[in-house]
Amino acid sequence: MEKQIWGQERVLSSLRGAIRQGHVSHAYLFLGSAGMGKKTIADYFAKTLQCEAGGEEPCGHCKSCMAFSSGNHPDVIYVRPEKKTLGVEDIRSQIGETVDLKQYRYRYKIYIVEDADLMTVQAQNAFLKTLEEPPAQVVFLLLAQRESVFLPTILSRVVRMKLQPLSDTEVARYLLENTALAQQEAAIYASYAQGSIGRALELMEDTSFQQMRQEVLEKLAALPAVSLAEALQYAKEWEKYKNEPRFLDIIYLWYRDILAAKLLMEENSLIQKDQRNQIFQAAGRMCAAEAAKKASAVWEAKKSLVQNGNFRLTLEVMLMKLKGEQI
Ligand SMILES: [Zn+2]
Repeated sequence: MEKQIWGQERVLSSLRGAIRQGHVSHAYLFLGSAGMGKKTIADYFAKTLQCEAGGEEPCGHCKSCMAFSSGNHPDVIYVRPEKKTLGVEDIRSQIGETVDLKQYRYRYKIYIVEDADLMTVQAQNAFLKTLEEPPAQVVFLLLAQRESVFLPTILSRVVRMKLQPLSDTEVARYLLENTALAQQEAAIYASYAQGSIGRALELMEDTSFQQMRQEVLEKLAALPAVSLAEALQYAKEWEKYKNEPRFLDIIYLWYRDILAAKLLMEENSLIQKDQRNQIFQAAGRMCAAEAAKKASAVWEAKKSLVQNGNFRLTLEVMLMKLKGEQI
């Protein structure tokens, strides 16, 4: 169990501290982007709180732990939106109607609100009433990606737990120990996962990501040989990747690796070791300053798109810079 909660020792130790000191709060808000392990941590905490052994981690074999593992714990309730948002009706039917009833048989009555940041303002106001005067044994575990959507009145009544993104090395280490990936592949997936194990695991399954990466890398390797007009055609072709968050990361990593190859001259410094030949070849054709300039052109494109810059135009400007045109 613990093994899945990788790299979140800070959050875990403060939860254990709360149990040890008998200061379990009525409400926790777990914050972190998708795939960082919010649900895993909330489940683990709920299982621990309900465990009949009463320790700082679940014993794994008492009635409560068994019930939890079978997915049928009577005193752990999952709250999920019926529609796109978590509305007043969801709060009423999934929390309001049962919150005052005594728990069936275990120590606490725990509500795990997945996607709590989908709560509408009205729903938050409805929830606030319960949060202001929670029944004694009730614990709410709210999971959310964004903190900014919550009313200050909610935030002031929950204990906030921010999950930390992991380093690429930690994600890679997880992949190596828990999947069949070889070291070289683990490093590649980790570098696209932005500190999230869940995302890395998703990418492993995502054949469209792998195809996109292959296609983009082939074009980048060919870029020095094509004319400027042909290069600008890429901008048009790549419009299909407009909504792919990792599209520009692929391009960025390409130049980052060329720069690493130039400066460090060794294979170990490369992230994309599967591309070593192409990278060293490309590195042979440009100086370090050029590689750095190109990497920063990609970075600027990324920034422009975050600020809602026009996709096609942004790519055209970037491709001109990658072709070494003065702009
Ligand atoms: Zn137990």
